[in-house]
Amino acid sequence: MEKGFNAFEMAQKQFDQVADKLDLEQGTREFLRWPMREYHFIIPVHMDDGSVKVFRGFRVQHSDVRGPCKGGIRFHPQETEDTVRALATWMTWKTAVVDIPLGGGKGGVICDPHELSMREQEQICRGWIRNVWRNIGPVQDIPAPDVMTSPQHMLWMMDEYETIVGGKYPGVITGKPVGSGGSLGRTEATGYGVVYTVREALTRMGLDIRETTMACQGFGNVSQYAADLFIKYGGKVVCVSCWDQSDMTSYTYRKMDGIDLEFLLGITDRFGTVNAEKAIAAGYEQLPGDAWIETEADVLMPGALENQINAETVKKLHARVKIVAEGANGPTTPEADAYLKENDIFVIPDFLCNAGGVTCSYFEQVQNNMNYYWEKDEVLSKLDTKMTSAFHAVADLADSQSIFMRDAAYMIAIDRVATAARMRGLV
Ligand code: NAD
Repeated sequence: MEKGFNAFEMAQKQFDQVADKLDLEQGTREFLRWPMREYHFIIPVHMDDGSVKVFRGFRVQHSDVRGPCKGGIRFHPQETEDTVRALATWMTWKTAVVDIPLGGGKGGVICDPHELSMREQEQICRGWIRNVWRNIGPVQDIPAPDVMTSPQHMLWMMDEYETIVGGKYPGVITGKPVGSGGSLGRTEATGYGVVYTVREALTRMGLDIRETTMACQGFGNVSQYAADLFIKYGGKVVCVSCWDQSDMTSYTYRKMDGIDLEFLLGITDRFGTVNAEKAIAAGYEQLPGDAWIETEADVLMPGALENQINAETVKKLHARVKIVAEGANGPTTPEADAYLKENDIFVIPDFLCNAGGVTCSYFEQVQNNMNYYWEKDEVLSKLDTKMTSAFHAVADLADSQSIFMRDAAYMIAIDRVATAARMRGLV
């Protein structure tokens, strides 16, 4: 996070703007501006060297008026209570915009997994659960993996919960490995979800996906599966980019007549870094990291980091760009939004565009609760239905009121949560 930047203040500011547009009454505003509950605790860990180290952990439950809270647990050295609060708030809007019966939560531990052995990380996971097991659960709050936490961490947490509570509760947490309560299709879900919304946006614009091109930033989970489905639909992906740890810089790999996805995946490591030598030998242009943004393409898909399309870079967008599909969280700044609005570039906002992940996590929990597991095709077809209908609800509102897609998405999400709170008699 940038110094001086407070993510929770930004989340509250965004909320206030939409609350004004919706003319929300004062009590409802106060109720939705703040998390409903927060847990702050410490986790003592016996380290491998014999010392004891104490880690700070959090769980923030922003809202459960539409269903149990849902959101990941991050392990990060720069974690703060305000980043967790902001992320919990955004989860409330994300689950509401795709209309799944869940609320918003987020958790974290201030730690750097790079400096911890697997045994020490396991102790943190188990300690995290020992602190909050009374306050989470399949009908209260369902965590998931996030930055620097993995299916393995989720499984340790599930195991600790089941040991304490005494029973089998796979629905307490999602993002588990397939075979241990995880859902087929979760790996593809976010990238495929991005492309379901892009497909629908192109259809609304009267464009044939087979005649369109896409430029991606990143080549990790989101971008790889977005590229996969875009190509399966007949479109062309003209570039991907990645961070290269060997020389601490980022590169764009471009082929204007379309990348060969299978080949690129074969020369990419598990961190999403493309082997430069092999890519160049195969005829890919190796360009600076931000060249993806200037590339001639119909669709731009930021799928790596926040703050990439900003006041400076947005002016470099090629005149051909018609759609910005936000696979990453927070890739576009408010200044860039103003430019995109002026230039009539269609934006699919992050909390709608990349909601395929949380939607599939919801499916995982449904399967856990039934103790019956769907085939991959069934999961993906249900995901397509959810993403498509969420996309059109937002696009219809944006069209009918001539407003920006991001504003329309926020209006739908906040209105749904406010309505549920009113109907329960909370506000
Ligand atoms: P990942 O770690 O699998 O891949 C990240 C990719 O970005 C890698 O290819 C990496 O090399 C690249 N990258 C890093 N720094 C870069 C730079 N400076 N320039 C160009 N490329 C760079 O991550 P992911 O799971 O694909 O997530 C990507 C984004 O999508 C994040 O913002 C994440 O929060 C968001 N997101 C992910 C999911 C999910 O289910 N994976 C769900 C919702 C949102």
